Amino acid sequence: MRVQALCVGMVLASCAAARAQPIPGPQDQPPNDRFNPGELRSTLVVPESRVERFRHPVIDAHSHAYAETPEAIAAWVGLMDRVGVKTTFILSGATGPELAKVSARYAGAHPGRFVMFAGFDKEGVDAADYGDRLRRRLRADVAAGAAGLGELTDKGLGLVRAGEPRATAASGAGLTPPQRAGGTGGAPLAPPVYIDDLRFDPLWDGAGVLGVPVFVHIAEPAAFYEPADQSNDLRRSANWSLHGKGTPGYAEMIAKFERVLERHPRTRFVSVHAFNLANDLGALGRLLDRHPNVDVDFAARMWELARQPFSAGRFFSKYADRILFGTDNDPSAPMYLAHVRQLETQDEWFWPADAEWWRGYGMGLPDDVLKKVYSGNAERLLRRRLDK
Ligand SMILES: [Zn+2]
Repeated sequence: MRVQALCVGMVLASCAAARAQPIPGPQDQPPNDRFNPGELRSTLVVPESRVERFRHPVIDAHSHAYAETPEAIAAWVGLMDRVGVKTTFILSGATGPELAKVSARYAGAHPGRFVMFAGFDKEGVDAADYGDRLRRRLRADVAAGAAGLGELTDKGLGLVRAGEPRATAASGAGLTPPQRAGGTGGAPLAPPVYIDDLRFDPLWDGAGVLGVPVFVHIAEPAAFYEPADQSNDLRRSANWSLHGKGTPGYAEMIAKFERVLERHPRTRFVSVHAFNLANDLGALGRLLDRHPNVDVDFAARMWELARQPFSAGRFFSKYADRILFGTDNDPSAPMYLAHVRQLETQDEWFWPADAEWWRGYGMGLPDDVLKKVYSGNAERLLRRRLDK
């Protein structure tokens, strides 16, 4: 509106620059109207699919130890049976005795229903024996049943900060509020050790030798590194803003991860949340083309696909062998069924799982694509170790 008004009194030439500005959105919003899409009752009347379970058996390749008691874990298994999830990967982030504890509660109590993934030793990064310890611990965790590493996170605050406390069992959902720079206790944290630091190479190399995949959470959506102002697409999620937190920024974090992928071509990686690049599937495809040793999931990023169902459908067909199904969310029937609706139906204008401020559309994927994404690709990932 402001741009248009300005142009009235301007000569045509100088108006061209103004026209390059983004096209304004809704035109007639009353002043001071606090527009809240979550409160809107949609008046759109369109067919609505009643879905009750996944059309093909599912491996949820991105979850965490959300349930804490044996009863809650058993209830989760019951829910998995009802909606058609045969197996869930628990990206525990835990290692050693912590991993043993969480494994006993999940995979131990429910064989075949949960597959465990380990963390790594974050202590003494500067010590001369750090590389040896990384290899030894990984071998021990895999011998104890871990199927790989995950979820290892570097949002721009480091894969490790020297001196940070040992990781806890659950690393939480995909969108976890970042640490405040300087920590909460007043003592400044040690400088971050980023994912491409050579001191971690024994970890990536060790995973390649053992044939186990590494689930990496790199960066966050690029908008999180920008000011969370009125023009920011994702400002609703300002809680997770990394703006002004002293990170190297989105592009540099991706460059760091790409260096790791290049240095370790025989190690299989899964870039969870699709490199946090689900807003640009063209660029995401080019990353997959450049690095044949990485797969992706869209866990907790389905809202990004919901607003581009045609582009997303084409992407899933083209890269059907490179996409794992994952939820990264507290298990509930509505959460699972929102995924069913989005992937399997052509329903319109419904809330996707884990929604941002917009609703979205189903992709209506064909069966051959669904079968690979739902379970085939995850099964192949687990088989690599047995094939060795
Ligand atoms: Zn996660």
